[in-house]
Amino acid sequence: MEQVVIMDVTPRDGLQDAEGYVPLEDKVALIQGLVEAGVHSVEVTSFVHPTWIPLLADGDRLVPLLRRLKGEWIALAPNERGVERAVASGVSGVTLVASASESHNRANLNHSRTETLAILRRAAERAHSAGLKVRGAVSTAFDCPFEGTVPIASVMTVVEAYLAMGVAEIGIADTIGTANPAVVKERVRTVNDVRGTVPLSLHLHDRYGWALANVSIAYEYGVRHFETALGSLGGCPYAPGAAGNLDTEKLVSFFDAQGINTDIDLARLATVRERLFTVLSQRLSVPE
Ligand code: ZN
Repeated sequence: MEQVVIMDVTPRDGLQDAEGYVPLEDKVALIQGLVEAGVHSVEVTSFVHPTWIPLLADGDRLVPLLRRLKGEWIALAPNERGVERAVASGVSGVTLVASASESHNRANLNHSRTETLAILRRAAERAHSAGLKVRGAVSTAFDCPFEGTVPIASVMTVVEAYLAMGVAEIGIADTIGTANPAVVKERVRTVNDVRGTVPLSLHLHDRYGWALANVSIAYEYGVRHFETALGSLGGCPYAPGAAGNLDTEKLVSFFDAQGINTDIDLARLATVRERLFTVLSQRLSVPE
């Protein structure tokens, strides 16, 4: 049976745009629920400066609480300082992040892309020396909210920088959810030409409802790693025009229908999502 790997990013990407407070025990329950539903890998937090994303400021306390659970915990880390916190927390791996487009990189990370790649080179070295898995994520790998269509050469500059850092996985992200199958095919094939045996992961948002078509074409061209969030959380799904992440349940049922194994139990996943939404409805307000 063909196998795919779905990394759920709900605790990190799903919560980062919301305002409010989610208690640690509810985050642990969410991650435990995901693991019990069969999700092996969860992006659990982000070690950006705590004031940037207040809802994720508790990562240093969250990760140690996950020790008794069996899973791969990944945390986003923007620099060496973030990696230090990741190492201290006991997380399994880090996702480094840079944007393919210059203006999104500046807006998101406050540095030029060249500066960011230099920062990430040092962060990757530190993470490797501590034995952490290092993933390299490329934001705005398709379209940029400020620049429109991103040239493929800009994507490849970041991909090649990550490969030179010795990352264990490359991720390309459709940050605003506007990618279509033709451009996914183009980018996946071009990354395939250089990545060797390093897995390629696809992180899709779903503005136009094209995400599953994008998954299909990526699968066709050898992508077996995908990133999703429960209930399409993330990217302000309730704000007009914004696009949340591809829904984890939607992707699992899409693969189930094709006889492609995800190891994930859909019924259990639905229970986890219902529990999470009960917590969120009590705790969060989504910004206008
Ligand atoms: Zn996302």
